[in-house]
Amino acid sequence: QCPINSRTTNDGATNCVCRNGYYRTDSDPIQMPCTTVPSAPQSVISSVNETSVMLEWSGPRESGGREDVVYNIICKSCGGGRGGCTRCGDNVQFLPRQLGLTHTRVYISELLAHTQYTFEVQAVNGVSDQSPYSPQYSSVNITTNQAAPSAVSIMHQVSRTVDSITLSWSQPDQPNGVILDYELQYYEKDQTEHNSSVVRSQTNTAVIRSLKPGAIYVFQVRARTVAGFGRYSGKMYFQTMTEEEYNTGIQEKLPLIIGSAAAGLVFLIALVLFYFPEVTPGMKIYIDPFTYEDPNEAVRDFAKEIDISCVKIEQVIGAGEFGEVCSGNLKLPGKREMFVAIKTLKSGYTEKQRRDFLSEASIMGQFDHPNVIRLEGVVTKSSPVMIVTEFMENGSLDSFLRQNDGQFTVIQLVGMLRGIASGMKYLADMNYVHRDLAARNILVNSNLVCKVSDFGLSLHSHCSTIPIRWTAPEAIQYRKFTSASDVWSYGIVMWEVMSYGERPYWDMTNQDVINAIEQDYRLPPPMDCPSALHQLMLDCWQKDRNNRPKFSQIVNNLDKMIRNPNSLKAMTPLSSGYVPQLLHLYQCLILALFKDILRVGVTLAGHQKKILNSVQMMRAQMNQIQSVEV
Ligand code: AMP
Repeated sequence: QCPINSRTTNDGATNCVCRNGYYRTDSDPIQMPCTTVPSAPQSVISSVNETSVMLEWSGPRESGGREDVVYNIICKSCGGGRGGCTRCGDNVQFLPRQLGLTHTRVYISELLAHTQYTFEVQAVNGVSDQSPYSPQYSSVNITTNQAAPSAVSIMHQVSRTVDSITLSWSQPDQPNGVILDYELQYYEKDQTEHNSSVVRSQTNTAVIRSLKPGAIYVFQVRARTVAGFGRYSGKMYFQTMTEEEYNTGIQEKLPLIIGSAAAGLVFLIALVLFYFPEVTPGMKIYIDPFTYEDPNEAVRDFAKEIDISCVKIEQVIGAGEFGEVCSGNLKLPGKREMFVAIKTLKSGYTEKQRRDFLSEASIMGQFDHPNVIRLEGVVTKSSPVMIVTEFMENGSLDSFLRQNDGQFTVIQLVGMLRGIASGMKYLADMNYVHRDLAARNILVNSNLVCKVSDFGLSLHSHCSTIPIRWTAPEAIQYRKFTSASDVWSYGIVMWEVMSYGERPYWDMTNQDVINAIEQDYRLPPPMDCPSALHQLMLDCWQKDRNNRPKFSQIVNNLDKMIRNPNSLKAMTPLSSGYVPQLLHLYQCLILALFKDILRVGVTLAGHQKKILNSVQMMRAQMNQIQSVEV
């Protein structure tokens, strides 16, 4: 008699073959029943902790008649706002391992922060390889949280004296957010960690003073974001100068130091006084590519030429002013492959269009800051002409916020604003005036880091249209564009962020907006907006541009709020003085809606939802006013 799930095809057969869908492994004895693949694992549960996840499941309902069931994990990361899932990279860690798990649990770490993942848990056994179908699986979807920054990998000594050492270090590979500051721990090599001292630094350098001469010290540094401290870097050893080294060094260099210091000083003073009356010495300044006689030369100076064979275009992700924007990969010789965005110039362009298109690259190429979009290079020697920049997974900030309405904590929103302010401070320090700062021109990556982008020159020509709602009155009236008018626009961006991408001044017409601003009306605080933030917006919207804060002050202000989240608890109590302003704004808004109705001739019903929304918003804000009769 044949064992279960096997049969013979002719009389007098000496062995039994398996039925369809049943198999034997090479080592299964011939008298054993044939077996099949297992069904899917059951009830997978996940517990996410920051950027790691524990998966646990129960065995399959049907083991296929075998005892050798094991499990494989397939990891896919999804989203980035663009749909579709891709297999995870090699950096994701599985404990005890990814394939051939004998127990029903696995720990997965080193995932990206704020990212959606799908995990498929496959059940396989000794005969799965023989089945033509892929193994059965159960899947779970998870979203990781914000993680603390990864460890700093490199620290090096910039200089040293008998009693001090100046160190600098690299940013962590995965900051997972905006780095607020660094903490440096150090102690003498012969001592223990218990005797360590700590210094804080807001940049990635620090001078450690009051050290002993000729002593070796152990240093470790860690970064901090709103998610807390990351891990400490490995221990690194640096030694102060001995008195002897110092004395010999000084004697050798004395004439040189005095000579060069004097010459350098004279030169610097001359430079500062005659050329850059407003600029601090040592600061890099932005150069307008249109001051070049041949703008192609500016491109050569500021943008690296990339060979087209290094670029792989994947898909179209948006439309730019000059052509399609695509995502893709860039693999430069000797460097790791990276995700990039590729802006293309559509064919049939004029020489002027090509120049204007590439001018963005010659501007971007002059900047190097974590909150300013980074230029990788340009492709100009083949067609189409391309600008290659770092890839920002979450696209532009306005649509990202609209898609995630109400999903972030106030601290996360302030973290985004801090990043934008820091990028703008850098640009202002370089004497660059953006002129079109708005949430639509900020890009967001998968770590929620915001970067200033859009350095097109369209607003720098004289016949362009000005984005009225974002622009300071003096820039609208007499084209006085300065870093102070960028600060006004920054205030509007703050309002856009805190209202999750609402349109500034809603449906009011441009003329209504201009009139309202002229009469000193300003946007009210968005729903649930802390009063400290609305106050900062109002400061940015001071009529006299000299009274507006500088970007450096805005960064400091936001840092203070992040360090002391209690300061963000207070919501604006609407003062009676504010009521007429509000009423006026809503009046403009509702009037604008009615005008629309009259102009377009649509019925009230078509606008009902908009009107109801505005009335509701008005009522919500009015409810906060107790002592005032409206
Ligand atoms: P722009 O011409 O710069 O306004 O770009 C048009 C659109 O393309 C933007 O609104 C974004 O959605 C997308 N985009 C541009 N640059 C990038 C980038 N570096 N990463 C991801 N998306 C981008």
